[in-house]
Amino acid sequence: AKRIVVKIGTSSLMYPNGNINLAGIDELAFVLSDLRNQGKEIILVSSGAIGVGMNKLHMQKRPSAIPEQQAVAAVGQAALMDIYNQRFLTYSQQTAQLLLTRDIVEFPTSRQNVMNTLEQLVQMNIIPIINENDTVAVEELDHQTKFGDNDQLSAIVAELVEADLLIMLSDIDGFYSDNPLTNPDATLYPHISTITTELLEKATGKGSRYGTGGMTSKLKAAQRVLATNSAMVLANGKHPKVIFAILDGQAVGTLFK
Ligand code: ADP
Repeated sequence: AKRIVVKIGTSSLMYPNGNINLAGIDELAFVLSDLRNQGKEIILVSSGAIGVGMNKLHMQKRPSAIPEQQAVAAVGQAALMDIYNQRFLTYSQQTAQLLLTRDIVEFPTSRQNVMNTLEQLVQMNIIPIINENDTVAVEELDHQTKFGDNDQLSAIVAELVEADLLIMLSDIDGFYSDNPLTNPDATLYPHISTITTELLEKATGKGSRYGTGGMTSKLKAAQRVLATNSAMVLANGKHPKVIFAILDGQAVGTLFK
């Protein structure tokens, strides 16, 4: 795989106690910078704006009102980029921020502009860091502006840049026969080639208080990736060095191919 999109979920960026997982972010920056130097083309899709915003504003509970969520996300997005810039710079790696909305699906010109920007950044050896534009895209306007979540966004980006692989990092080792949080007998699927309704029934919602999409949205992302004959690996983002093992061809997490 030469062109790789990596998606990291909030659960990998935040500790359950509300602290920011700086060690994890640093390891991610280390791994992605190293891959970039090996000639891989890397695009990062990162959640975490609301989690980091809550941390900055000392909020214990995710706000329920949409404008409040948007405000917290706006604070958190800048703070998160601050952290990314700082960590990546210790590995001499430049980054860039792209905040996208569904425009890139709906309008060919917007789509083309985003594609051009991404291609240019990759050519300039810069790692684009993408998130949904939470200020513009609110849940109320669902299908008009919102992607659904960053799982969908990462699959759309992977399609847009014709990525060879989408690596989705979550707080779980892969896709299981049932939610391992509630069923200790659940077993890991190492390889899935089609998303059946039966599989979709085995997926439930988010795991942590920060999680958003849950497993259903990860399967839907996989479905999109499979439709373009590309591949996706769902793995645990606790130790981002797992990305090396994945690219090494080791059996890690769940491979959708
Ligand atoms: P993220 O923040 O990484 O996007 P989510 O909380 O949205 O993570 O989704 C991951 C969670 O999905 C897991 O922690 C797990 O509890 C839950 N889950 C539900 N069904 C399954 C399943 N069949 N296999 C694995 N995890 C599942």
